[in-house]
Amino acid sequence: MPAVPSICLYCAKPIKSGRSDKKFCDSGCKDAYYNAIKTGEHKEIKKIDSILKRNRRILKKVYSERKPEKLINREVLVKAGFEFGFHTHLVVTKFKANEFIFCYDYGYREIEKDKYKVIKSFK
Ligand SMILES: [Zn+2]
Repeated sequence: MPAVPSICLYCAKPIKSGRSDKKFCDSGCKDAYYNAIKTGEHKEIKKIDSILKRNRRILKKVYSERKPEKLINREVLVKAGFEFGFHTHLVVTKFKANEFIFCYDYGYREIEKDKYKVIKSFK
């Protein structure tokens, strides 16, 4: 079978020399290729990070240490820009096995329809 010339993954030029499994013309193309992937990945991660941080900021704002049982309406959270699809982890309380959804150190749980209890992380 005749060897099909490989094409550089970065600049898309045919690779002239080297083994047939070479993916790049040289280390310059290789570095540029992986840097481009990293930059794209960072963009995606940064986007999600900023949503998570905004969620945390909103929870922190509505959380009241003096009235920890106060329920927050869904509308208040949504209007502030809260995105319910994004959270960092779940915590199940030992006491009642209630599941809280966390954004970093602040968590929430739906107590009644569209009403949420907001808590600060417990250790
Ligand atoms: Zn190249």
